[in-house]
Amino acid sequence: MVAAPGSNTASRTVQQVDVAVVGAGFAGLYLLHRLRKAGFKAIALEEAGDVGGTWYWNRYPGARCDIQTIDYSYTFDPELEAAWTWSEKYATQPEILRYLGFVADRYDLRRDIRFGTKVTEAKWDEATERWQLITDNGAPVSCRHYIMATGCLSAPKPPEIDGVKDFEGKVYFTGRWPHDGVDLAGKRVAVIGTGSSAIQSIPLIAEQAAHLPVFQRTPNFARPAHNGPAPSDRMSLLQGDRAAYREQARQSMAGVPYPQQTVVSWQLSDAERRERFERAWAAGDLVHILTQLWADQAVDVDGNKIVQDLIREKIRAAVKDPEVAAALTPHDHPFGAKRPCLDTNYYATYNRPNVALVNLRQEPIKAITASGITTAKRNVDVDVIVFATGFDAMTGAIRAVHPITGRGGKSLTDVWAQGPQTYLGLTVEGFPNFFMITGPGSPSVLSNMAVSIEQHVDWVVDRLAALRDAGFTTIEPTETAQAAWGRHMADCSMLTLHRLANTWYTGANVPGKVHALMPYTGGVGPYRSICDEVVSQGMLGFRLT
Ligand code: FAD
Repeated sequence: MVAAPGSNTASRTVQQVDVAVVGAGFAGLYLLHRLRKAGFKAIALEEAGDVGGTWYWNRYPGARCDIQTIDYSYTFDPELEAAWTWSEKYATQPEILRYLGFVADRYDLRRDIRFGTKVTEAKWDEATERWQLITDNGAPVSCRHYIMATGCLSAPKPPEIDGVKDFEGKVYFTGRWPHDGVDLAGKRVAVIGTGSSAIQSIPLIAEQAAHLPVFQRTPNFARPAHNGPAPSDRMSLLQGDRAAYREQARQSMAGVPYPQQTVVSWQLSDAERRERFERAWAAGDLVHILTQLWADQAVDVDGNKIVQDLIREKIRAAVKDPEVAAALTPHDHPFGAKRPCLDTNYYATYNRPNVALVNLRQEPIKAITASGITTAKRNVDVDVIVFATGFDAMTGAIRAVHPITGRGGKSLTDVWAQGPQTYLGLTVEGFPNFFMITGPGSPSVLSNMAVSIEQHVDWVVDRLAALRDAGFTTIEPTETAQAAWGRHMADCSMLTLHRLANTWYTGANVPGKVHALMPYTGGVGPYRSICDEVVSQGMLGFRLT
């Protein structure tokens, strides 16, 4: 049964399936494919008008992936890999969206996706041992298993500033950019935010706009993309032995095949450190610069500070006005504790006469008015405001389905009142047959998400098939296992520098959100081994009935 987007006339008859997937992005598409192959009757429910998830919604100028596209791809089917060639090292949003559409066509996935359908509530029915999902469009759904593939960066954060409704110009959000584009030529355009989407879009907006004031609260580290064709050294590695390359990615720390560094910073001379840094800077690869300089860069404040200082030098060299350069230079977090952004002319854009940095640390925004933005020091009149203010990451889209009611009428919002509690980032005690893909407590946003998504989907579908074949109808983690996972998460986070930064990884960007490091910092390969060990030990930490 497919409900047309926007219509609310579909039958109220409950749609019965084995598995309901919410979301048709990278994760939802692969889930649907795997579930079908495993013999389950499955559907996906998707708020958007088509497949793509992140790449459907984020159509702002300059939107690209920041993991090289040869790594940021599905790897489950060698024939699919052979059938698609990326045109660039970092593909643009339209190309990635085309790729996901190509995947949907190739496996005929759209026929089981209800587009234009948002899941609004979910309730576990103890008597039937099934989930009941309510949607805003068409029939409710009854399913044995409920899988949220709702995305870690899919719930845009609403503006925290008064007066947006009073503004008489146009307002856009990078995470909800209009499909037919926006003409910014000759306009006075304000960009609020200097996170990843802002850093990608500002150089392109600056080329069109008459005037571009950028409102920055917290500067980010950005490193150059040096985009172009996929680099020949990485391509040779991939083409030399594709299966081994993919396997190395699965066992790696971040989901991209790079060796583990063993040399620590103090074993290298200044010249050797600089040489390594310059090589990483020239490579324009996120995982290279995050993992390949020296072994202590992500775990030791001194080892990290050397990287920070080298990047600060680069910012000073790129930005002509020393005051602007200083304002653009981060000092409040270790490099890598916040996801570093991808820079194509970002810093150099501040040398343009039509671009101005407004430092909100010195002059906070007071209000948005009919004609523009008022800070503590001045009024800035603009025609357009672009909010590049990020997402309610990792838990935003999950909690937006409200309530999610588990056993005994427990609501997920209440269970997570002090921060997300999960077992393996996949399941929650008290919520039988409920799964999250790349949920809080899994490597998720600290990894190449394509690799993490495939691992989660494979693990979940393999478990569902094994349970079915063994005659079980429910699966749920124990309280003990969930508490132990929480402790393990906390122990791992003490080993990295993530604990020293207030970021969207910790919920610090959303007012009122509980401060907790949400992704698992133990690494993609080790995490995979733990998930596999849980299985080999007879589903350790799970109760099956
Ligand atoms: P999404 O792609 O977010 O899809 C989730 C879908 O669920 C959405 O379509 C949404 O509409 C739908 N949905 C949510 N709630 C509901 C509901 N209640 N009812 C119905 N539908 C719902 N990751 C990387 O690893 N490398 C990168 O280079 C990279 N670049 C990125 C660039 C940008 C601009 C952004 C925003 C993210 C980037 N990411 C990157 C992270 C990216 O989100 C993931 O790589 C991946 O696309 C996530 O896929 P997903 O299917 O899990 O979630």
